[in-house]
Amino acid sequence: MKGTPRNKLLEISMIERQHTFKETTLTYDKDVAINEAKRCLNCKSAPCRQGCPVGVNIPLFISKIADSNFDSAVQVVKATNALPAVCGRVCPQSEQCEKLCVRGKNGSAVAIGCLERFLGDYAIDNGIYCAAVGANTLKAGHGSVAIIGSGPASLTCACECIQNGYKVVVFEALHALGGVLIYGIPEFRLPKRLVDAEIKSLVSLGVKFEINTLIGRSISFSDLRKRFDAVFIGTGAGLPNFMDIEGENLNGVYSANEYLTRVNLMKAYLDESDTPIMRARNVLVIGGGNVAFDSARTAMRLGSKSVVLAYRRTKDEIPARVEEVEQAEIEGVIISILSIPVKLLSDDNGNVRGAILKKCKLSEMDVRGRRSFEIIENTDYEIECDLVIVAIGTNPNPIVKECFSDLVTDSVGRVLVDQNNITNLPGVYAGGDAVTGAATVISAMGAGRSAAKSIARQLNGKYIN
Ligand SMILES: Cc1cc2nc3c(=O)[nH]c(=O)nc-3n(C[C@H](O)[C@H](O)[C@H](O)COP(=O)(O)OP(=O)(O)OC[C@H]3O[C@@H](n4cnc5c(N)ncnc54)[C@H](O)[C@@H]3O)c2cc1C
Repeated sequence: MKGTPRNKLLEISMIERQHTFKETTLTYDKDVAINEAKRCLNCKSAPCRQGCPVGVNIPLFISKIADSNFDSAVQVVKATNALPAVCGRVCPQSEQCEKLCVRGKNGSAVAIGCLERFLGDYAIDNGIYCAAVGANTLKAGHGSVAIIGSGPASLTCACECIQNGYKVVVFEALHALGGVLIYGIPEFRLPKRLVDAEIKSLVSLGVKFEINTLIGRSISFSDLRKRFDAVFIGTGAGLPNFMDIEGENLNGVYSANEYLTRVNLMKAYLDESDTPIMRARNVLVIGGGNVAFDSARTAMRLGSKSVVLAYRRTKDEIPARVEEVEQAEIEGVIISILSIPVKLLSDDNGNVRGAILKKCKLSEMDVRGRRSFEIIENTDYEIECDLVIVAIGTNPNPIVKECFSDLVTDSVGRVLVDQNNITNLPGVYAGGDAVTGAATVISAMGAGRSAAKSIARQLNGKYIN
């Protein structure tokens, strides 16, 4: 049962990592992909599929790779996932599909994410787009859908709506499309040309995109509702949380959002970029999610001598992808577990020069099923740092509450929806981080899909997928 070991992704050298933002790992070539696909047991019950929020037919696409039938394998994935090159790279597979893989019970799980990534790249390299399902059906829907935001929730909703025959316009506040895929996740983990290529696939289906358009300011929410039959809100959770400790307003203290946006969206790591970025000697990153690890690995690439990531629980509770934690450690990030900053220290010019941290211990489970932590008194210690990056979560931007009048939200501004992503307003749907707060790409995509189904029901079309 144990069989052949899982095929690992090749990695670029440490020297390249230190000096460039090139992607750290390399996609399988065809032979390795076939070899990995042949490890799949093709179980009848296909538990892996239950672990996928968009229900990709995993055993079928893997069997097609094993038969070298790549074009057909791409269509299987793209039937329910418009962004395979993205998801193959960033999904938390070890907690989802791969966690349920039967092979994994007695050895290592099939590398489902790496195979999906292989197909995503294959599709881009060979110009294979999402199928225009709506165009192929006898009963295409009629109606128009406005989509606010262009992150993964919106892109998925747009793809499904256009495939069902509706006219779709996506409005994006920024000058670039993709949401966090573009401005948050760094190039060394998710090359932007791949995000652009997967969006191009939607353009080929007829989805229209309007950039530099902030709904609620450039166009009012009520105007949008008048112009379109249905509206999907996929505005994400772009408002960073802070710790509310002394010194958080010092120079050199960034939210991870700002730090990563400067680097990713504004390309501050390139010499020719106009956007400044602080290249610090000693960096303290606060948090334990993907955002914290992306910030830490970015700081390493920008030449920092020491990057310490302070996390208040243990390694077992770290929410970031397993691969990112491993890669960060290989790159020299020091993970300081059971540690929490309580004060940031200033030099004479108002710049951060250090931090005081305290040690923590784990206590009982919290409501999310995670161990809570308690601060241990009299355990203060000081570290030197000239840059602090705060990555402790985000909430929806208050503009949603402010400008989308009558929309019901909770106390932190998350849009309230039912299980079908329907809001309290007729014809208005929502999904992704705008509803859940900071979560994952694939859960946002699942919500975009669910909302598209509801929109199709509203517009009396036939839901295809
Ligand atoms: C640094 C970082 C790393 C991450 N790493 C991972 C990972 O490895 N794996 C994973 O699964 N998840 C990861 N995530 C989380 C994941 O990216 C998000 O959960 C996901 O992008 C949410 O998608 P969304 O479509 O809801 O919103 P977003 O991706 O946030 O997109 C929302 C878009 O809406 C636009 N917008 C907002 N308001 C308006 C308005 N009024 N008018 C027009 N446009 C508007 C915004 O500009 C933005 O482009 C990461 C997040 C960050 C920040």
